[in-house]
Amino acid sequence: MSIELSFHGAARTVTGSCFRLKTPHSCILIDCGLFQGSKTLRELNYQPLPFKPDSIDAVLLTHAHIDHAGILPKLVRHGFGGKIHATEPSMDLSSVMLPDSGHIQESEVERLNRRNRRRGRKQVSPIYTMEDALQTVQQFSPVEYETWVQATTDIRARFWNAGHMLGSTSIEVEVSQGDGQQPLRLFFSGDIGPEHKLLQHDPDAPSGYDYLLCEATFGATDRVEANPDERRALLARHVKDAAEKRGVLLIPSFAVERTQEVLTDLMMIMSNGEGPSAPVFIDSPLARRATAIFEKHAALLANAGALKAALKSPNLRISESVEDSKAIGKLSGFHVVLSASGMCDAGRIKHHLKNHLHRRNATVLMVGYQANGTLGRVLLNGAKKVRIHGEEIEVNAAIERINGYSGHADAPELERWISERLPVHRNMFLIHGEEEGMAGLTSRIARKLMPASRILQPEIDETFRLDGKKAVKVHSDNRRSIDPPEAARQPDYDNELTQLVLDINEAVENTAGNKNRSKLVRRLRQALERAK
Ligand SMILES: [Zn+2]
Repeated sequence: MSIELSFHGAARTVTGSCFRLKTPHSCILIDCGLFQGSKTLRELNYQPLPFKPDSIDAVLLTHAHIDHAGILPKLVRHGFGGKIHATEPSMDLSSVMLPDSGHIQESEVERLNRRNRRRGRKQVSPIYTMEDALQTVQQFSPVEYETWVQATTDIRARFWNAGHMLGSTSIEVEVSQGDGQQPLRLFFSGDIGPEHKLLQHDPDAPSGYDYLLCEATFGATDRVEANPDERRALLARHVKDAAEKRGVLLIPSFAVERTQEVLTDLMMIMSNGEGPSAPVFIDSPLARRATAIFEKHAALLANAGALKAALKSPNLRISESVEDSKAIGKLSGFHVVLSASGMCDAGRIKHHLKNHLHRRNATVLMVGYQANGTLGRVLLNGAKKVRIHGEEIEVNAAIERINGYSGHADAPELERWISERLPVHRNMFLIHGEEEGMAGLTSRIARKLMPASRILQPEIDETFRLDGKKAVKVHSDNRRSIDPPEAARQPDYDNELTQLVLDINEAVENTAGNKNRSKLVRRLRQALERAK
């Protein structure tokens, strides 16, 4: 009998997590996530799924992040009717995050279609709608931590705390092979949290597998470990600096977990007198709803008392309506705004950036990972001008960052986590990482834990047969391609085009006199004709 594992996402990229496990009797997915980052990668979300949705019997969801759960509504829209097994907090978070994602898909396509109509191009339909997301939520089935759940007739699973966000898990999977044979044991890491995470306990799981799938997001990064006090001291310094400039401290923040972590620290700083007091706004409808879910599941959190105290702080203002959000934009003097999205490519944060980036007394503080190709990364790279909602904005604000809030384990932590999962009898698959992270982690593992020849780095839509002594790649016709492959990782043509347009505008502006400007534009036009 053959057991096959296919890698439909998070294969040499950090988004789009989706793995398909097929046995002679059943077929399940572990995660079903959205591709995020460059336009080239995001276009994969619009392509047909590389398998039949109605051939999937069940889904096991590691956690509620959109790059792990965000394609579930598409799966449901195209015929998946089975259960989605997840922890209760993941289920609660998905019940707000998936409809939010559906809303984003619908409004993005609406905007695109308006443009397409003007240009006489054909209309596109959204990847899925809010309606699809609401239906998806109905298919969730809650699991207890550390308790076996029978997913199909021959596959059972246990969920273990991954310490990455509220409700996050690694998943232990056993496939029964009959004939008195031992079950085949697999372990899917999900995203693994770091050891000093403010609101999460350290990750935990049993050891001994045939196959281990491990994330490698920061496989090449050895962070200077910031303990919670040091990290808060760093944040306090930025609070003081921003207060001295009497401007805004704008913190682009993922709505779930990061917002609640940073809020807890900000309020501790203010109540302990470690920094000046000021109003702190949470301006993200998703963050507002997620915060209520954190309160509901506080018993699962580390430092729950500090979070609860932060939520009672008189400095806290949680905005609801668009009018509330606009009113924040009119404030002057020192205040703090936490707003989503964390990578600055959607949501209310874009309005705040548009409003503040040109101000010299404003501070933008990045507290999360900024993927290649996102506005957040462009700002961190030191862009002097950016485009937001079609408008060119000069960047005069200070762009700062704190790395200590990562939701992911760094390389030494990953190595420790892997060593605690050993022995791994057959192969390890590195997933959820870009080239550098996977190369870094491979050499670490190969030094002490396992020969490099047993560590595999699958590509998108590759399938491996698992029932032999080791994983064997099998041929599959139905593979999608990323064009060109490196566009998944590096800034793609779309980022380059945006930069070119900005550079042209700047060159024209810096040319004295309309006559010279005309000459420059004509020369650019000639260069364009030659290049075609
Ligand atoms: Zn995650």
